Amino acid sequence: MTEVFGIDPLIIKNEYYIEYRHSYGKTSPFFENLSKGKIMATKCEHCNKTFMPPRADCPYCLRETKWVEISGKGKIHTFSTMYFAGEKFLKDVPFYLAYVELEGVDTLLLTRIKTKEPEKLKIGMKIKLKIARDLEWRASDIWAEPDE
Ligand SMILES: [Zn+2]
Repeated sequence: MTEVFGIDPLIIKNEYYIEYRHSYGKTSPFFENLSKGKIMATKCEHCNKTFMPPRADCPYCLRETKWVEISGKGKIHTFSTMYFAGEKFLKDVPFYLAYVELEGVDTLLLTRIKTKEPEKLKIGMKIKLKIARDLEWRASDIWAEPDE
């Protein structure tokens, strides 16, 4: 039986479930290493560029990249406050998303910033990536926290 929450406009309860089977393919080592406490990026030895998020193949020369461990330290390039979110993060609203510049990495990483003092967030602030204790094998298994 359909559960009706409102008439004008009509609002009903609608169950929605989709199971995904997602392969990380060549980037699987990223998640495997998170379980060992290591944050890995990929590096093209031909172009001397390091990618995070990792890329299995270099976007410049198309050669296969190599895995390299990074410190996870860096700084905020830019950030924004999120007042809306998908279901997984609704309980955390407002939260903070940032592009971060990581030591030894040539690309920006989009990640969450977790902090108890959001008023202190600023561009250029030092951060360090953290790894979840209970991995879900998702990008949300890592995030940044202030490192000052
Ligand atoms: Zn390359």
